[in-house]
Amino acid sequence: MELCDHNKCTGCCTCYSVCPHHAIQFRSDESGALYPVIDANACVECGLCRMVCPALTQNVISSNSVQKCFAAWSTDKQLIENAASAGVVTTLACHIIRNGGTAFGVKLHEKQLVFTGATSVNEYLKCQGSRYVHAFAGDVYTEVKQKLDEGVMVMFTGTPCQIHGLRQYLQKDYENLLAVDLVCHGVAPITYLNEYLQGKGIDDYDNVVFRGKNGMSMVASLGEDVLYRKYKLVDIFYTAYLKGLISRENCYQCPYASTQRYGDLTVGDFWGLERTAEMPNHRFISVVLCNTAKGERFLKDCGNSIRYVERPLEMALKKNGQLNGSCSRHPGRDRFLSLYPQHGLVKSIKRTSLYPKYLKSAIQYRALFFASKTKQLILHGT
Ligand SMILES: Cc1cc2nc3c(=O)[nH]c(=O)nc-3n(C[C@H](O)[C@H](O)[C@H](O)COP(=O)(O)OP(=O)(O)OC[C@H]3O[C@@H](n4cnc5c(N)ncnc54)[C@H](O)[C@@H]3O)c2cc1C
Repeated sequence: MELCDHNKCTGCCTCYSVCPHHAIQFRSDESGALYPVIDANACVECGLCRMVCPALTQNVISSNSVQKCFAAWSTDKQLIENAASAGVVTTLACHIIRNGGTAFGVKLHEKQLVFTGATSVNEYLKCQGSRYVHAFAGDVYTEVKQKLDEGVMVMFTGTPCQIHGLRQYLQKDYENLLAVDLVCHGVAPITYLNEYLQGKGIDDYDNVVFRGKNGMSMVASLGEDVLYRKYKLVDIFYTAYLKGLISRENCYQCPYASTQRYGDLTVGDFWGLERTAEMPNHRFISVVLCNTAKGERFLKDCGNSIRYVERPLEMALKKNGQLNGSCSRHPGRDRFLSLYPQHGLVKSIKRTSLYPKYLKSAIQYRALFFASKTKQLILHGT
């Protein structure tokens, strides 16, 4: 029994959360990605899952158009250090937590990326950074609803499909909910990440980020120990992700990659921003789209901890591909999918047309890196 078109399923878990008979489980298909499976014996065909599924067009909650576009950054230096971009999400989360609320984000737990509701700043700090893998929402929407009904202030951050899933589950807006969707390039199945790190001899780790303190590098760690760190151009997983080879199939036809948003706020990178004197010298400045008046109010409520200046939406759209359309599906993807079940992740990537290009750019990058280090050694002795 299939709930929605397999290639459109985002794995958002709304069906799983709404089923009163627990008749829906999530299992990996042969591509390694998680999809809902209905247990025909437990299902009473009440149709609730179909009513809330965001991939089915009937009954969908409507999205909002962008109202205002800001270039924004956190003023908390400590929060920026480990942030994916300019630390806006974590600063908003900390503000809500300090005012007695709960902020939901994702963290790695037993090699799964799962949602967690943080009630302390230290707890939320574990969510900082971007992981380019699918987070399993499980029962989190139920937990969010419970908090909202109790009157607790809730911030929920996730990919746009997860925010749509949450809205579908709730079926109404709550004044005490701040929903934040991230600009998103797609998510790879977590099974790929686990297999990849295992292939590097890394069995035990409690965090992986692709964007954080080390910029655009994949970093796996256990506590304070960094077990693996590679810049995007010399990491085959990172490259395959960026080039559109290994994300979930739905990510290549993502209906959320547009200026119609389900979050009160949307946060991403402000690529192509013309920096002015009032802006700090950070690696990244974020784009923050206010899609509802409530979103803008929350941003203002953070006072001096988040600085923002209005910019034309067109400026943000110009260089941020993921606000204009889905990431491209790599021409080698069909080959990758056909090889993966038998050969696993790395061998399959290596047999696609992506590999020779990856090797070339990795060699070029290493040569440039080596040359700059040698120059530094000669000039400064370090
Ligand atoms: C899978 C993914 C793809 C992205 N692609 C783009 C892109 O193409 N273009 C762009 O401009 N921006 C993209 N972003 C957004 C960008 O990387 C930053 O997350 C965003 O700018 C917020 O930065 P920040 O410093 O405020 O976040 P932080 O303060 O570091 O907080 C990060 C937040 O992201 C959440 N998060 C991290 N990984 C996931 C995940 N896998 N699923 C759900 N939530 C997650 C954390 O829970 C946390 O709430 C992507 C983010 C993700 C997670």
